Amino acid sequence: MGSVRFEQVTKRFGSVEVIRNMELSIEDGELVVFVGPSGCGKSTMLRLLAGLESVSEGRVYIGGRDVHMLEPKERDIAMVFQNYALYPHMTVRQNIAFGLKLSGLSKPDIERAVAEASSLLGLKELLDRKPRELSGGQRQRVAMGRAIVRKPQVFLMDEPLSNLDAKLRNHMRVEIRKLQQRLSTTMIYVTHDQVEAMTMADRIAIIDGGEVQQFGTPQEVYHRPANIFVADFIGSPA
Ligand code: ADP
Ligand code: MG
Repeated sequence: MGSVRFEQVTKRFGSVEVIRNMELSIEDGELVVFVGPSGCGKSTMLRLLAGLESVSEGRVYIGGRDVHMLEPKERDIAMVFQNYALYPHMTVRQNIAFGLKLSGLSKPDIERAVAEASSLLGLKELLDRKPRELSGGQRQRVAMGRAIVRKPQVFLMDEPLSNLDAKLRNHMRVEIRKLQQRLSTTMIYVTHDQVEAMTMADRIAIIDGGEVQQFGTPQEVYHRPANIFVADFIGSPA
């Protein structure tokens, strides 16, 4: 269902190669964190996966199907960004339901889906509020609600907590992890924060210069770093 595979993927912008021979397989239901310094290619990888960018070489698969052969509607993914834009004039309920706009579901089915998503995210009491009446963490939750309401096979998150303060970030990390487990959806979570990566991931892909430096469990990359870059980045014992 929600397995993901990058097969020898290269991405160039003009003559600049930003992803190089990327080879990566993610299992259904896994939470994989892409971590690496700014500019290493993390967001580009998510955009390739979402079909928002085309590959220069290679293929990207979701559930065994080539992403670039699918219509946008057929790509069973949802994405949450750092700058999650909520519609200011809409209520929380309407913002979440917006995620189902193209689904063709009946009104009662939409209501049921919104109720379920808002219950999972602790938003039930806030459904009639407007975004300006919410805290930063609550807004981020609404953005997630809009994404999960469609029950995607694969959930992509690009530095979703960067705009929150440290305390809330810690709290939301745990919540996102719990949510992923409850939905048993595949999640790819992008961050430049190695602590976040180590605490959340089933497996971590450490990326530098458009290449995967190591792909393994937090324990593996910490105790058996593949190279000096990984050891430095993760802060492995010398
Ligand atoms: P990250 O998310 O890890 O910070 P990105 O994937 O956003 O990195 O960017 C990787 C590299 O690709 C950067 O050098 C960036 O400047 C470049 N890049 C990203 N998008 C484009 C684009 N549309 N056109 C040209 N260069 C781009
Ligand atoms: Mg980025």
